[in-house]
Amino acid sequence: MSDGGRRPLIAGNWKMHKTVAETRALLRELRARPLPRHVDVVVAPPFTALAAAHEELTESPIALGAQNVHEFTHGPFTGEISPVMLHELGVRFVIVGHSERRAAGETDADVNRKVHACLAHGLTPIVAVGETKDEHLAHRTHDRVTAQTRAAFEGVDAAAAARCVVAYEPIWAIGTGLSDSPENANGVIAEIRAAVDGLASARLLYGGSMKGENAPALMAQPDIDGGLIGGASLTANAFLEVIDAAGAATSAR
Ligand code: PEP
Repeated sequence: MSDGGRRPLIAGNWKMHKTVAETRALLRELRARPLPRHVDVVVAPPFTALAAAHEELTESPIALGAQNVHEFTHGPFTGEISPVMLHELGVRFVIVGHSERRAAGETDADVNRKVHACLAHGLTPIVAVGETKDEHLAHRTHDRVTAQTRAAFEGVDAAAAARCVVAYEPIWAIGTGLSDSPENANGVIAEIRAAVDGLASARLLYGGSMKGENAPALMAQPDIDGGLIGGASLTANAFLEVIDAAGAATSAR
């Protein structure tokens, strides 16, 4: 493991894309290509495709992620999916607190309960934090992301926090083609690391229009351990460009 256990990690957030048939096809394409051995890769398809993805990923180094989870194991929660159900399907990572879910009403307290639920059921949360464009322009990035991070990890001990993943995703960079500068992203990620005990040894990702072209410069930053990738995770070529760039930029670490 590089850097005291911070192996590079590239996670694809497929959002509401890919039917079961499309999921199988994309995973077959990805599996047909060599992956750098020192980079961990996660794909997070929609819930409906998780079972098929689990089958396709049998004996693959690519790990399975989900895009959301409910805080409880079972009960009268129509439309929700529990951590136990995800674990049974082979899911090992869960994106928690993505800005698209926060925009739909998810609060810092919800995110915190989901982080605890993941940790209680053998799932690694990928906690997404990030500021809006207005907050960015008002120089409130630090306050916003450190507050979100502290809230997400409330009651989580340092050893457990170290096993989690945090993705810094400036909302203004998501899906816009405008990524943050590598230096700025690295600075914010260093602040996130310092905000919670244990995150110094956790894997911290950048997310927001990361793709093959900008991945080398982002991955060359000392505090950026990988990426949470939306648009560029939807085709094998684009996703592999990011994975390969992460591999090349970190092979010397
Ligand atoms: C995301 O939604 O997590 C994301 C980073 O999307 P994109 O890469 O398309 O900006």
